Amino acid sequence: MGTQWHVRYVNVGAAANPNLKFIIEERSLQSIVYDLSTYEPASMLSRFNAGDSLAPVALTSDQHAILQIALEVCAQTGGAFDPTVLPLVEAWGFGATEATHPPSDDLIRGLLDGVVGCDKLVIESSSSATSHTLRKAVPAASCDLSAVAKGYAVDRVARALEQVGITNYMVEIGGEVHVRGVNATGVPWRIGIQSPDAGNPGIQRVVSLVDRSMATSGDYRNFRVEDGKRYSHIIDPRTGRPITHGLASVSVLHKECAWADAYATAIMVLGPEAGFDFADEHGLEVFMIVHDGDGFVEKMTPGFEMILLKN
Ligand code: ADP
Ligand code: MG
Repeated sequence: MGTQWHVRYVNVGAAANPNLKFIIEERSLQSIVYDLSTYEPASMLSRFNAGDSLAPVALTSDQHAILQIALEVCAQTGGAFDPTVLPLVEAWGFGATEATHPPSDDLIRGLLDGVVGCDKLVIESSSSATSHTLRKAVPAASCDLSAVAKGYAVDRVARALEQVGITNYMVEIGGEVHVRGVNATGVPWRIGIQSPDAGNPGIQRVVSLVDRSMATSGDYRNFRVEDGKRYSHIIDPRTGRPITHGLASVSVLHKECAWADAYATAIMVLGPEAGFDFADEHGLEVFMIVHDGDGFVEKMTPGFEMILLKN
């Protein structure tokens, strides 16, 4: 996933589990990376995307679970979050290969009209709903789960820790976190939210989390500068172009990290106003950092304010 994982746990009175690293890496992360990667050419998704067959392919239970989340958030956001956006991500140079210049208007129009959209992916389930397949509605359709994969992987690692009896832990993958119980000093886990300010990097805020996930999407983490113009790796599928509004970062709370991750990217696309309204409508607690001239302002829901540690 092009990032690092980080797990902390407290197991008072018990010996450290010597298999933990194996459980986390080999049993939880490796299969997800293989199932969900669009960077790894041999992964199932890469092969699905590269081919132009309309035949259904079998989904693993992880793939099915994560696709359901992606398609649900796509429907909830009117396509602002869209797992079929990959051709646009690639056209803008944020895929596996780099692009040398922005795509033409014609190319963008063609992709928007014919290839991008949640109706371009079809999930079918067996009558017992135990097995599921995915097929393309058009040959050039593709499936990109990068915006949910880290959060989903956090949930999987958390589940693996619980299966070996660990109940006080913090799991973090590339900035997406899930915590349960308390830290080594016996108080709720404290998680920092990064400042999006390149001139003043560091921790902007600290929150106290209990049995919850937090995912953050930001315009400062993955972007490219070309001719003095900044291009985000998050594409608005309604325009076919990188987002341009003033939302620098959004953090979202949820029970499950996969949902928090998907919603963070979705709200990043919707922007500071529509994104905040969306959070309100869906009962999500969010924390936004919005560009304001040369500086930043914060905007948050009342529930988020309650978990901020005062500094
Ligand atoms: P980050 O944690 O780096 O901010 P995100 O979770 O926000 O990452 O996901 C960004 C990735 O999601 C992009 O690299 C791209 O593959 C994909 N993506 C870009 N735009 C969208 C979109 N509108 N809907 C869904 N996925 C997107
Ligand atoms: Mg995300």
